[in-house]
Amino acid sequence: MSHYFYSMISFDDTEIAFKYKSTRDLKRAYTMFKLVGKSWLVRFGKWMTPIAFKLRLPIQGIIRATIFRQFCGGESIDECDDTIKTLYDYRVGTILDYSVEGMSIESDFDGTCDEIVGTIKKAKNNHPAIPFAVFKVTGISRHGLLEKLNDEAAEITAEERQEFAAVLQRVDRICAYAYEADTPVFIDAEESWIQNTIDRLAETMMVKYNKKRAIVYNTFQMYRHDRLDYMRKKLDEAQREGFKIGAKVVRGAYMEKERERAAEMDYPSPIQPDKITCDQDFDASLELLIENLDHCAFCCGTHNEESNILLTELMEKHHIDQRDERIYFAQLLGMSDNISFNLSHENYQVAKYVPYGPVKDVMPYLLRRATENTSVGGQTGRELQLISNEWRRRKGKANKN
Ligand SMILES: Cc1cc2nc3c(=O)[nH]c(=O)nc-3n(C[C@H](O)[C@H](O)[C@H](O)COP(=O)(O)OP(=O)(O)OC[C@H]3O[C@@H](n4cnc5c(N)ncnc54)[C@H](O)[C@@H]3O)c2cc1C
Repeated sequence: MSHYFYSMISFDDTEIAFKYKSTRDLKRAYTMFKLVGKSWLVRFGKWMTPIAFKLRLPIQGIIRATIFRQFCGGESIDECDDTIKTLYDYRVGTILDYSVEGMSIESDFDGTCDEIVGTIKKAKNNHPAIPFAVFKVTGISRHGLLEKLNDEAAEITAEERQEFAAVLQRVDRICAYAYEADTPVFIDAEESWIQNTIDRLAETMMVKYNKKRAIVYNTFQMYRHDRLDYMRKKLDEAQREGFKIGAKVVRGAYMEKERERAAEMDYPSPIQPDKITCDQDFDASLELLIENLDHCAFCCGTHNEESNILLTELMEKHHIDQRDERIYFAQLLGMSDNISFNLSHENYQVAKYVPYGPVKDVMPYLLRRATENTSVGGQTGRELQLISNEWRRRKGKANKN
């Protein structure tokens, strides 16, 4: 990674990172990360939980007290109040993420749309503790429909056209509400075989609502080899046509699935050949966005310390104030507190995704978090190390007193 300055920021200060956690909370988090670090246990949990819910075994309480408590804010918007307040005590914002997945009927999609509008309403009344809203298009549309529309050559029936008109209406309702509430909204990125459809929706909304400032943000997954070019094209378009690009930059969450499908269906994988190339494009996208800051606003969504440091260095190089509202850093609740809280301590603008929803319905999200913490090299080890450092620091302090 290319570094311009020696950044002043350090992510090793565990006192700042965990100030909001009692020692009991720290111990609980330690046990939780120890458990998700065991891949056999995560595999067993993935297999067992749907069965346990079907058999109505009393596992909700256990899940609620462990993994749910670590990674989620509550079961409803209002149940997230404590989390919102705690984070904001340290000037870390909340992004309420309704994490219910796998819906398939129109009335469910309308319900999810209402829920997302509810999060924007909450944000409007809690500026600036809730700086963004977020949604997934698959929460308000049938996956198969998005997939069919992804393929420009596919023949679309009149029924499908009508179904898609309802999706467009839901997306427009959310974005219009965000515009009126002056609360920017992220559209999450998903699998490449539905992403063209999501991009088209996001682009339409950006042209409509981003004339003065970025209200609608699309997500750019830099693990795809074509995204840097796509970002360049979108920035050129925005400059030409006089609107702002809202960009959430991430590496991407579906790598294994993408590679497997490409191999199975015999087409070239959309994923970068290796991690280094992915990192290079991630870095390059941050530089590109900073250089075009008159035409965009962006959020850097990563748990990678070097990427976060690079962005602080780029801001310094370009003389951009830490509190410039066009640049945000974001992490997920329950992960990388050392990054979030140290950044906010140094006056950068930071927010955390706070997933919420009924325990049973957020299970797919929680299992993904557990799998990610098992498979992303070093992440669990890093969390455990930081927690033990803080534990030791507190014990040392107590012994001195
Ligand atoms: C606030 C926030 C919002 C997010 N929103 C989305 C979203 O909308 N859509 C989405 O898909 N994901 C999203 N993610 C998840 C994100 O894409 C990553 O999966 C996750 O953050 C891990 O990447 P990293 O940059 O934090 O860490 P790192 O550990 O530096 O990177 C791990 C990532 O690098 C990539 N990678 C690893 N090995 C290779 C390889 N051999 N070749 C190519 N690439 C490789 C993969 O993307 C992997 O997830 C979000 C994450 C955050 C923090």
